[in-house]
Amino acid sequence: MAGFSDSEAREFYRRMAAARPEPATELGYRNPFTLLVAVVLSAQATDVGVNKVTPALFALADTPAKMLALGEERLSSLIRTIGLYRTKAKNLIALSRILVEQYGGEVPRRREALEALPGVGRKTANIVLNEAFGEPTIAVDTHVFRVANRTGLAPGKTPRAVEQALLAVTPPEYRRHAHHWLVLHGRYVCTAKNPRCPQCIVADLCRYEAKTTAAEPLAARRRRAARARGASALLAERPDETPAAGLTRRRGRWSRP
Ligand code: SF4
Repeated sequence: MAGFSDSEAREFYRRMAAARPEPATELGYRNPFTLLVAVVLSAQATDVGVNKVTPALFALADTPAKMLALGEERLSSLIRTIGLYRTKAKNLIALSRILVEQYGGEVPRRREALEALPGVGRKTANIVLNEAFGEPTIAVDTHVFRVANRTGLAPGKTPRAVEQALLAVTPPEYRRHAHHWLVLHGRYVCTAKNPRCPQCIVADLCRYEAKTTAAEPLAARRRRAARARGASALLAERPDETPAAGLTRRRGRWSRP
């Protein structure tokens, strides 16, 4: 697959910027510390799920000192709907202690310091540096990884390789928002299943060989609806057909019950 030329990459981001001039994280937060907490909670969880628990949590603990005062047990109970909540609670208490004891209760603006915190890896550090401090870092999550590889914008076998490729191909003026544009594009347009290629603003630049067409999403929706009505047998024979609502299949024919 031929990679993007400089002018194609610039055009890719120009369109992203035109569509979303001021993209932002969909995680709710109040300050750098609560952003860090929200990002730690979002590992292997959805932003929607995290946003359900953080308002109550941040009302009680929006600083490292308050998080320490809250304690691990109470924190666990507040975030118990989030996957891996016990491990995350343990890490959040430990990182809050480090922030209080070593950084005066502030979130450090240095990558090495962030990555040394419990539960904080490169992706989380990149998000905090970018969102809280305006650094031109590009965090690679599952959406960014998929979009970068699928489009051919920045192919790579690992998140780190994709990050390096993105930093190399992204014009400096677009690095600040690149992560958000790619995440939002992956979440709402270039989805893992049935990407919405007919609605995609970068379809002519994208190198993906299995782009969807206008008809495919409709057919996919029909097949799902048919399966829900127990019509999988008919679909196996004639994939493009779906039965009318209310019909049932008996002896190879569709009829009203
Ligand atoms: S054309 Fe399709 S595969 Fe390519 S970026 Fe757009 S949605 Fe994704």
